[in-house]
Amino acid sequence: MIKKDYKTEERVVVDNHCVDVHLICDCCGKEIEQHSYYWNLCTGHYDWGNDSVDSIKHYDLCSNECFKKEVDSFLREGHTTPYVNAETEFYFKRAHMGE
Ligand SMILES: [Zn+2]
Repeated sequence: MIKKDYKTEERVVVDNHCVDVHLICDCCGKEIEQHSYYWNLCTGHYDWGNDSVDSIKHYDLCSNECFKKEVDSFLREGHTTPYVNAETEFYFKRAHMGE
């Protein structure tokens, strides 16, 4: 007889952007308005080999101006192997659930 351990399926939903907290622009410090688009920026570089993971930074940015400022100041750090990932996201604050 084959014995199998069936594990119940666990689902953990993690959604950092929909928690009921204020979303603050990492550049100008303004609160990002609900139901608006904002920039999600990630910068980093490979200059430090394995330690390069410590160079990764995430930013929430309220406007094109703040986005440009952060990218610009990152580029001015002058790394030899920089990278930038960026996309706009829609900020939607969910109502409290299960509380
Ligand atoms: Zn801003």
